[in-house]
Amino acid sequence: MKNKKNKLPYSLETGLIHGKSLTKKWDFSHHVVPPISSSCTFRLESTRRGALGFAEFAHHTGQQAVKSRAPIYIYDRLGEPNKEVLEENLAAAEKGDIAVTFSTGMAAVAAALGAVTGVGDEIIAHNILYGCTYSLLTNWYPRYQISTKFVDMKDPRNIKKLITSHTRVIYFETPVNPTLELIDIAAVVRMVKEANKKRPKTRKIYVVIDNTFASPYCQRPLEFGVDFVIASLTKNICGFGTDMGGVVIGPNWSYDILLLYRKDFGGALAAKSAWPLLVYGLPSLSVRMRQQMISAHAISTFLQSDPRVKFVSYPGLKSFPQYELAQKQMRDYDGKFAPGSILYFTLKGKTPQIQHKRGAKFINYVAKNAYSITLAVSLGHIRTLIEHPSSMTHSAIPLVEQMNSGLDPGGIRLSIGLEKPADIIRDLAKALDNL
Ligand SMILES: *Cc1c(COP(=O)(O)O)cnc(C)c1O
Repeated sequence: MKNKKNKLPYSLETGLIHGKSLTKKWDFSHHVVPPISSSCTFRLESTRRGALGFAEFAHHTGQQAVKSRAPIYIYDRLGEPNKEVLEENLAAAEKGDIAVTFSTGMAAVAAALGAVTGVGDEIIAHNILYGCTYSLLTNWYPRYQISTKFVDMKDPRNIKKLITSHTRVIYFETPVNPTLELIDIAAVVRMVKEANKKRPKTRKIYVVIDNTFASPYCQRPLEFGVDFVIASLTKNICGFGTDMGGVVIGPNWSYDILLLYRKDFGGALAAKSAWPLLVYGLPSLSVRMRQQMISAHAISTFLQSDPRVKFVSYPGLKSFPQYELAQKQMRDYDGKFAPGSILYFTLKGKTPQIQHKRGAKFINYVAKNAYSITLAVSLGHIRTLIEHPSSMTHSAIPLVEQMNSGLDPGGIRLSIGLEKPADIIRDLAKALDNL
């Protein structure tokens, strides 16, 4: 696939390692690895340069101005070289115009939504969301009179019925955390484009997708016409579990407002965290994802064949109910099927209570005895992580609502790391035998 944004005849996979090679963000042309920047404030030779810097900040007239000259750095929260080089590479990775990084994934979610909503606006969101995003929408936004309607977006027609003149955002994750169910990105975009035809430009509805689960290596929603992609950099992109971060990737016009949001609400990515993301995380994303997908396929096949397992949800399995959709929207940079590295499964049991109990027993056994699997939240880590979404990451969603929207109380989420798949399978088999 051509890397159009960089206009280089190289694959994006190579682009993730070398970045733009020549950047005006910082003159480090004699370094092979970008130096780590550690300066909260920047020397300004004159008040004139200071004034120019402030005047330019968040007043870029699109990409042109950004490209035309080296930025005048003023203060870390406004911008500094490490995160700006990372931002250029993240925008390229997602095939977007611009990227703005944040201190965490949640800061990025808040910035994307905060940049395009105000008092009286409505958000329509899928009925299963990452727990903290759900909490943001239900505990905080009502205080600012921004309301959210939750609906099952697996059938995009459900969204249409809820759109009003106040709707500003359609928000979802695909694959859905943790069930791995998919939402048809192209179908949602088509529907929203149709609705936007009848709306004034200032009341446009934006489609915002959380692409944390798939990572840009496996899925690039902007190619399907969504407006904004957000991601937690803490997960697949960092990969090694050492740093937190978040990013919003969007159209040129949103650059100023996102920078302004970051300046005023805070939540800037630390330069010391931008550096490992830039130097280790992003460059190794492709090779990690490729290996983890091979393992995820082997492990999901093993689990599926075990009589004690009720069902396994992994978009790479032929038995996956939305296999066709997975093939359509989950593709790597070469166009190969890329169903990600996370799976979700439940154990058999006569009632949901028994399933829940067995799920907890299974996880507790793994936590105590498994060498290759760790009980911990987060995902996209080089270590295989197991967790119980119902009582952990998604506990903000009331149990009744969890059950109504297909989040099994006994469901187990497994994020596959870089260990030998046979070792992970050995640890899972032992836990199954212990049930
Ligand atoms: C972890 C996660 C977030 C939040 O990211 P943080 O870096 O932990 O703030 C948002 N969305 C999804 C899908 C996540 O898994």
